[in-house]
Amino acid sequence: MIKSITGTKDILPQEIPLWKRLESIVHQMFRNFNYKEIRTPIFEETALFARGIGEDTDIVSKEMYTFIDRSKTSLTLKPEMTASVVRAFIEHSLDKHQPLNKFYYISPMFRQERPQAGRQRQFHQFGGEALGSSSPLLDAEIIEIAYCILSELGLKDLNVKINSLGVPESRQKYKSILKEYLFDFKNSLSEDSRRRFDTNILRIFDSKIESDQALLKNAPLLIDYLDNESKEHFEIVKNILSQSNIPFEIDPKLVRGLDYYTKTTFEILSAKVGSQSALCGGGRYDLLVKQLGGEPTPGVGFAAGMERILLACANENSIILPDEKVDLYIVNLDKVVLHYKVYKLASTFRHKNLIVDFDYLNRSVKAQMREANKLKARFVMFVGGDEYKSGKITLKNMETGEQKLIEIDNFSLIADIIKK
Ligand code: AMP
Repeated sequence: MIKSITGTKDILPQEIPLWKRLESIVHQMFRNFNYKEIRTPIFEETALFARGIGEDTDIVSKEMYTFIDRSKTSLTLKPEMTASVVRAFIEHSLDKHQPLNKFYYISPMFRQERPQAGRQRQFHQFGGEALGSSSPLLDAEIIEIAYCILSELGLKDLNVKINSLGVPESRQKYKSILKEYLFDFKNSLSEDSRRRFDTNILRIFDSKIESDQALLKNAPLLIDYLDNESKEHFEIVKNILSQSNIPFEIDPKLVRGLDYYTKTTFEILSAKVGSQSALCGGGRYDLLVKQLGGEPTPGVGFAAGMERILLACANENSIILPDEKVDLYIVNLDKVVLHYKVYKLASTFRHKNLIVDFDYLNRSVKAQMREANKLKARFVMFVGGDEYKSGKITLKNMETGEQKLIEIDNFSLIADIIKK
């Protein structure tokens, strides 16, 4: 038997209502903040991610699904969306229509990570990107949208962490200070961190290894070396968040895995999803558009992991969905004769936007009733017998038990009763 690929998951019909609830909150919230949806292809030229995300990030160096197609082009299944959104923004000169563009997306992503709870190889993200303004209002707005979506889902145990990475100049200065500090401990660092010491020293803060974290305990912090502009920017972001009643804490070690961030970075974590606790993360990336070949354009955005969010919702029992009901189940009393008539009747009410079902398996009346109950049918229509010969059907309200004898071709009356 052929099975699904390791790290991928089928989303089965019983889980779909939860996904739809999440998606509808995402669409609604982004609409409230006037973000427009964007959809980009599932794969891109590998160079886009290599250049956009950074060669020595985990994503690019270890996790991408990259393949050579028949025309010998190196393609990659998208591991994240920002680079693709920026590519589309540049390619279609979207800044020519309006100076500020606010986008959002919902899309599958692909990363070859070690699968575990809350970590898959095909997973889904939603996120937002605002391109064209360096205003700290947008940093706060992006954090607020993420926070509001999670709150709207009923999640309570949320922890918003924010930090500022400054601009490249102040960061560069700080990097040499950190290098000096860590130099003496270099040989005690884990292999990954030793590599990062030379390639991207800031990312040592991302290390999950305890001995690395112990060495970093007294390390100098970037936030103490910020340039004035970044400091002011950060102050405004914090003020707006406080004013909007979004609780946050400053985490000076939050550097995030991607290379493109400048100034604000943030993550929202849930205490309710085990070791993979980050539900979403993002930040400002004022240099990325230029890096990918566009006019210098500031940007800020975030991405949120939908599987993890739904895991947190399940653990907090935060989404209670109404039962999915069928409006009308048609019970065929004379099944052999009336088969196609039942089909026609069902079709008539389906065209009136009712959810209608009936029996396709030639089952007994008793079994049809059992099915109607299983489907939580609100109404059952009995078709057949003498009633049917005299042009009538019985419509039963399954909640009240009330029954009505109605002319079979009085479709509007029947639909009105059901819709009430
Ligand atoms: P990132 O793009 O790495 O900043 O990730 C943003 C969010 O996507 C994370 O906070 C997670 O919720 C989610 N995420 C990242 N990688 C995975 C994965 N392999 N499986 C499931 N969710 C993920």
